[in-house]
Amino acid sequence: MPKTSNQFADISDFADKAAELAAARQHLHAHPELSFQEHETAAYVAERLESWGYEVTRNVGGLGVVGRLRQGSGRSIAIRADMDALPITEATNLPYASQASGKMHACGHDGHTTMLLGAAEYLARTRHFNGTVNLIFQPAEEAGKGSGAQAMIADGLFERFPCDAIFGLHNHPGAPAGSFLMRAGPLMAASDTVTIKIAGRGGHASRPHLTVDPIVAAANIVMTLQTVVSRNVNPIETAVVTVGTIRGGTASNVIPEHAEITLSVRSFSAEIRDTLEQRIRSIAALVAQAHGATVEIDYERGYPVVVNSESETSFATDVAVELVGQDKVAVCPLIPGSEDFSYFLEHKPGCFLRLGNGEDSAILHSSKYDFNDGNLTVGAALWARLTERFLAA
Ligand code: ZN
Repeated sequence: MPKTSNQFADISDFADKAAELAAARQHLHAHPELSFQEHETAAYVAERLESWGYEVTRNVGGLGVVGRLRQGSGRSIAIRADMDALPITEATNLPYASQASGKMHACGHDGHTTMLLGAAEYLARTRHFNGTVNLIFQPAEEAGKGSGAQAMIADGLFERFPCDAIFGLHNHPGAPAGSFLMRAGPLMAASDTVTIKIAGRGGHASRPHLTVDPIVAAANIVMTLQTVVSRNVNPIETAVVTVGTIRGGTASNVIPEHAEITLSVRSFSAEIRDTLEQRIRSIAALVAQAHGATVEIDYERGYPVVVNSESETSFATDVAVELVGQDKVAVCPLIPGSEDFSYFLEHKPGCFLRLGNGEDSAILHSSKYDFNDGNLTVGAALWARLTERFLAA
């Protein structure tokens, strides 16, 4: 049965749920749980989904929860929200501030979870779609290595809950509340960490000719690494190679045996990511060799690049414009932070988008941050309408 645009979910459909959604969000905010410890949050989500008639699967990739709702024989969509908090002591003085000392929802995952629950209730009640809805509540987004997305995929997420496309969003401090930021192609950076240990031969500071000085070798490696982005990356592309620490030596009159530098490396394409690794390894080894030193390199790959597919981004942009109007939908700049939604996008086409948290919002991971409850109905309406449009009968 064809539907006209004005039959799809709108923000006004959630007006009478605004207070309930805010109460749910503030409950989650007061009870934050760190990565891999989201027991209460996962139970809270699963119980609600069950009460609305979802087929609920718990413990997908650890504490992940998937709620499935089937209606007819159409396509299948997945939408993901993250559930974990951070090891930060909250300093907001809000009445619903964290009750768990040293833990805080400082990245707004409490809001992401609540918006998706808001859409879940609406979709189960109205059922204006033809197909399968998979709502993915993911733990451990903040984990870095071995994150919740990787664990859910490894546990057969896409085989057990097949989908044609996947969507997710993150709130965005600094952008106007209720506005959407969209970008096709690369959106958020791959983030890699490198440790380079330089081994020389120690000795007396007054007898350098009898030593191999790892300090001088390290200094040369740091300077030569500055050529990676400037000489090996296409100038119309971008990347970051930052030497964050340099350590070595214990006294001014001693040439040490070892020195160590650590790097943070960011890139926005798989090709450039590979180029950076190859150049960093080569420079470290060959510069050290030129000094008679040797290196040991630990190159640890973190989350990959978040790459949005063209057609799903164009589709999500249309839905956002229908909801909030063209003047509240903008192109998102490249974001040098990283996000494990990238792993889902390596398997399925989809779109990760950003929802403005307000121009005066504290930044993410700050002890003063709070999710903007004014966005709860906007986000819930986005997911409901996007689902109805994607699964239009
Ligand atoms: Zn986050």
